[in-house]
Amino acid sequence: MVIQGCTTIDFGNLPAPDWPKLTVVEHYSTRESGNLARQYCDAPLFISVLACMQPDFDNKLCNLYFPDWDRASVADWVYRHELEHCKGYDHPGDNELHDLWERWKERRN
Ligand SMILES: [Zn+2]
Repeated sequence: MVIQGCTTIDFGNLPAPDWPKLTVVEHYSTRESGNLARQYCDAPLFISVLACMQPDFDNKLCNLYFPDWDRASVADWVYRHELEHCKGYDHPGDNELHDLWERWKERRN
């Protein structure tokens, strides 16, 4: 599952109250890996992907995938935006992270 179409964050839609503390893991593209955002951020080919996050609730990780080579190449607003996803914030009109978290909890029961 992938968060795509990163535009703005809905700060009015608070994260799930029991959203876990996730450790941020940043994945940057290399010549060998190719464009990681292209590989992990499930987006149409004609859309240029700035970044995306994939929560790994099993391991309490927040995986961030960037098309860039390093942190310095990532625009600050993009980076901060992804960190908000790691805290459980969704996009406006979207409940994707809330839903992912609820489904993960259901699978554990
Ligand atoms: Zn986003």
